[in-house]
Amino acid sequence: MKCVKLNEIEVQPTKIVCVGRNYVEHIKELNNETPSEPVIFIKPNSSISNFIETSSVEDIHYEAEICLLIKNGKIDAIGFGLDLTKRNLQSTLKSKGLPWERAKSFDKSAVFSDFVKCGSDLQSYQMELYINDELKQFANYELMIHKPEALIREIQSFMTLEDGDIIMTGTPKGVGAIHSGDKFMAKIYCHDSVIIQKSLIAK
Ligand code: ZN
Repeated sequence: MKCVKLNEIEVQPTKIVCVGRNYVEHIKELNNETPSEPVIFIKPNSSISNFIETSSVEDIHYEAEICLLIKNGKIDAIGFGLDLTKRNLQSTLKSKGLPWERAKSFDKSAVFSDFVKCGSDLQSYQMELYINDELKQFANYELMIHKPEALIREIQSFMTLEDGDIIMTGTPKGVGAIHSGDKFMAKIYCHDSVIIQKSLIAK
């Protein structure tokens, strides 16, 4: 089983619960409809990775997301994550009304930083993603349609969140294709201080 790290301790998520269409400007860039309730899908434990791998056959897109680690049914820690997506395949599946797993839940499709314990003031967290030194994505509490507390209540209304499970809270605008050699730099801030910094070079 794959693990993520929380303060140097290994944690084993049974699943990663992902939220789709949680930022207005991202919904517009993909020409999607705004859903009345959150769009939820899952990545299995086997999708966890801590590096980015591109593919010579398929376009893989990045989606940078604020991630929450669960303990005792509550938010325990925060991290940075990339929800890697085979966008063309996802579009084909969507157009046929088919599930997205082939485009979203493949091996190494969930790339995480280490997690750090977080306080209850979720409003003060924000995320930045730079690719090749250019700011590509920015997220904060304010921009989320469904806030973390509400997302967790909604997920728990039909699915148990086990200790170590991760919620990927959705991606803001600015998604795009990954090219081999791209230099990723992600930052999570609490108020004005950087609490997580993760650098990755796409293979
Ligand atoms: Zn996503």
